[in-house]
Amino acid sequence: MSFKTIRDLTKRVSIRLRLTLLFVLIFGGSLIGFSIVTFEFFSHALEQEFDDALYNYAVDVTESITLDPSGDLALVPPQLDRYKIYPFSLGTALILIRHRAGGILEQVGEFGELEIPYRREIERLAQGEDPVYRTLTRLDGLPLPEADSYRVITISIDNATPPILMLQIAVPMTLLENQLANRKLALEFGIPFTLLLAGLAAYFLSSRALNPVSGLIRKSREIGVSNLSERLPLPQARDEVRTLAETLNQMIERLENAFLSQERFIADASHQLLSPLTILKGEIEQAIRQGHAKEIELKSFLQETDRLAKLVQDLLLLARVDAGPETLGMAPLELEDVILEAIARAEKSARPRGTRISFNILNESGESRQVRGEEDLLMHLVLNLLENAIKYSPDGSTIQVILNQWPERQELTVADEGPGIPPEELDKIFARFYRGRSKKEQTRPGYGLGLAIARQIAKLHDARIWAENLANPADQGAGARFHFEIKNL
Ligand code: ADP
Repeated sequence: MSFKTIRDLTKRVSIRLRLTLLFVLIFGGSLIGFSIVTFEFFSHALEQEFDDALYNYAVDVTESITLDPSGDLALVPPQLDRYKIYPFSLGTALILIRHRAGGILEQVGEFGELEIPYRREIERLAQGEDPVYRTLTRLDGLPLPEADSYRVITISIDNATPPILMLQIAVPMTLLENQLANRKLALEFGIPFTLLLAGLAAYFLSSRALNPVSGLIRKSREIGVSNLSERLPLPQARDEVRTLAETLNQMIERLENAFLSQERFIADASHQLLSPLTILKGEIEQAIRQGHAKEIELKSFLQETDRLAKLVQDLLLLARVDAGPETLGMAPLELEDVILEAIARAEKSARPRGTRISFNILNESGESRQVRGEEDLLMHLVLNLLENAIKYSPDGSTIQVILNQWPERQELTVADEGPGIPPEELDKIFARFYRGRSKKEQTRPGYGLGLAIARQIAKLHDARIWAENLANPADQGAGARFHFEIKNL
C-alpha cells in the first residue's frame, strides 16, 4: 500500500480516529524502539555476567589440574566454595584439556560425540586474546543436552605464546535463555496491551476534546429556515471551537437578515399588488353588468385579473408559511371537519364539470381522533389537492377522498382518474413554480405554487405529503394519488 493510499484512507475517517491512530503510531513506535534498545542492553549485561562467572569457574578449574610424577595430566573437578552461585549447573559442565595440535589430553563430562571447536580459539589465543568465548548452538552428538545453546570458554593453562595447552569448558545457557525468553514474552504481551490501553485513552481524550464540535454540528443541523432566529451555544473555553461557534453565529445572523428582508419584500409587494387588482376586478365586473364594451374582452380581462389575484394570494400565503411556526395559531381540531368543509368548497368547481367527490373515513375503533394544526392552512392544503384532482381529471370522473385513522396517526388520500404524474416528476411537482412539462398542463390555469405551499404547510405541522400513481400508470385514467399523513394529538 503506497503512502498516498494510506493518506487517502485516513482522510476518510473521523478526526478522533485519526488522532488516535497517529498517537498509537508515534507512541507505539517509540515504545517498540525503546523496548528493543533496553532488551539488547539487558541481554548484553546478562551475557557479560554469565561470561564473568564462567571465567571464574575456569580459573578455579585450572587450579585443580595436576601433573603427576609420570608426566600425566590429571583433571579433578574442583571442590568449589558452596557459597558461590553460578548461572549454570556445574554438574553438566563439559571440561577438557587440549593440546594446541588439537588432541584432547583429558576430559570430564558426558561429551558423547560432541566436537568442541578449537581452531579459531587457538588463533585468537595466539593473538593474545585470553579468554576466548563462543556460543555453541549445534549440539550434534551431545547426549541429553541441557539447553538449546552452550557457552564455551577457552583459556591457556601455560605461559607459552601461543599456548601449548588450553582448557575448554562448555556449560548450558539454560538460565540465560530462560531469563531472556521471559523478558521477551513480557514485552510481546506487554507492548500490545499498553498500546491498546493508550489507544483507548487517546480515543476517549480526543472524543472529549471534540465533544464541543459535535455539539455545534448537532445544533447547526437543527437550525433551518423555520428557526433562523436561534443561535449556536458558545462554549465556556475561549478556544478555537468558540471562535468557530461565533463565526457560524455571525453567518446565521446574516442569513436571517437576508431571509427576513426577502420575506418582508414578498409580503409588502403582495399587499401592494392585491389592492389595485381588487379595484380593477370590481371595475371590470361593474362594466360587464352595465353592458359597457364587449363582454368577451371583459370576461378575458376578468379571468386574467382573477389569475393574478390568486397568484398574489398564494405569494402572500407562502410568505406566511415561510415565516415559521411562531406566527401560526395551532389548535386541536378534527381533520374530517376540515376535509368536509374543503369538499363543500371544491364542489363549486366540480359541479360544472360533472365531477363527483366521494368521501370515506376508515376508522376501526370508531373513536374520534384529533390533530394539532391551523385550520385555515390545513383547509388550504386539502382544497389544493381537491382542486388539482378536479383540474387534472376528465369531466364526469370521480375523485376518491379517503381518511384512514389509526391510534397514533391519520392519512388523507386523494385519488383521481386523471393522467397521473410522470414518475420522474413525482417529487419535482412540490417545488416552487414547477408545472407539469406537457403542453396541455402549461395551458391550464395555475402558477405551480399550490403543491409547494401544501408541502410547506405539511412541514409546519410536522406532517408528510407525497404523490404516487395508481397501480398501473400506463392505463388510461390510472390517476394520481396524493397522500397527507399527520400525527394525532
Ligand atoms: P399548478 O396546479 O398551479 O400547476 P401545483 O403546485 O398545484 O401547481 O401542481 C404542480 C404540478 O403538479 C402541476 O403543474 C401538474 O403537472 C402536477 N399535478 C398536480 N396535481 C396533479 C394531479 N392530480 N394529476 C396530475 N398532475 C398533477
